[in-house]
Amino acid sequence: MNSLTADDRTQVTREATAEYWKHIIPIVQIAFAIHVLLLGLFLIVGLRVMWITNAVSVLAYIACLLAIKHRLYRCAGMLISIEIIAHAAIATWRLGWDSNFHLYVFCIVPIIAFGFHSSPVRRGCLSAAVLLVTVGGYLMRNKVPVTSISEDAQDLFGAINALTATALLLHATALSVRFNLSMHMNLYHSAHRDSLTNLYTRRRVLQRFRQLGASRREVPTALVLIDIDHFKQINDHHGHDLGDVVLQQVADIIASCVRATDIAARWGGEEFLVLMPDTPLEDARLIAERILTQLREQGGAIRQVSLTLTATLAVATVEEGEAFRDALNRADQRLYEGKQEGRNRVMLAQ
Ligand code: GH3
Ligand code: MG
Ligand code: MG
Repeated sequence: MNSLTADDRTQVTREATAEYWKHIIPIVQIAFAIHVLLLGLFLIVGLRVMWITNAVSVLAYIACLLAIKHRLYRCAGMLISIEIIAHAAIATWRLGWDSNFHLYVFCIVPIIAFGFHSSPVRRGCLSAAVLLVTVGGYLMRNKVPVTSISEDAQDLFGAINALTATALLLHATALSVRFNLSMHMNLYHSAHRDSLTNLYTRRRVLQRFRQLGASRREVPTALVLIDIDHFKQINDHHGHDLGDVVLQQVADIIASCVRATDIAARWGGEEFLVLMPDTPLEDARLIAERILTQLREQGGAIRQVSLTLTATLAVATVEEGEAFRDALNRADQRLYEGKQEGRNRVMLAQ
């Protein structure tokens, strides 16, 4: 269910638009370069209407790049769309349907499709303009004035334009797809990584456990629950900011002690959990001991402050048919007992 507020949606649209234009900048730069080339070509050939059109287009692309630089994405989108549509219409009218200038209008299709920031009316108008140029241009193909350029030159234009417009469309589509994937990656990262420690989140642990449960396994899945001892005192004596740095240091130590197949997560506050697929209890205990040793040895060396850092850990394996929550509760209970017994130790919850 989508529970975003109107404010959230505005923020999402703003971020997605900025990200999209970051991806699409190469297309604007290529289009700018093509128009500079065409301007020179039409000046040489002496086609007045066409070189004037290209001079205006070059200015439009400079304005478009400036608009992107200043994050005026709506303005950039309109500039590039109007330029392409108007240019294609004028060029088709002056040089004929066979010159294939109308193909360039298809390059704005991804920009219309990904135009989150534009209103549906504006996108509808741009889509209608694309149709008008292509269908209208086709129907009028025999009514255009005879051009002064030779048939061979027309053929050359037709071939070059078909090639360039198709390549641009493919490139714009590929960039749009890449943008889509990068947005998904960013979302996945935000949902599955803790922003302070960069360890995995609870969501990723539960997801991984479900994935493991889907296949029958010979060796059990182990979990290690880690709770820093007297962490509140660190905050109280050295400040919350240093407390945050300690949590990052602890996270780095835990991550360095586990294997690539393990999922090291921040379970909440100053509690961490490592999920270890295919790990017997004894192996998990050894890793937990290693984490505790490293925390004692390195965990206290933060900036210029020296603190005594210890943690209490509990190790459990999830038994055949047991729910993750039940194994976790067992570990939690043993961790509590470890705290009662004096902290700074590894407890087995079997
Ligand atoms: P125990 O040995 O019994 O675990 O004692 P403790 O002080 O570690 O545990 P307690 O649950 O009393 O306190 C946990 C503290 O962790 C309180 C809370 O302010 C702090 N904490 C939780 N999340 C964060 C965080 O993101 N940053 C900082 N700096 N502190 C945090
Ligand atoms: Mg705690
Ligand atoms: Mg604690």
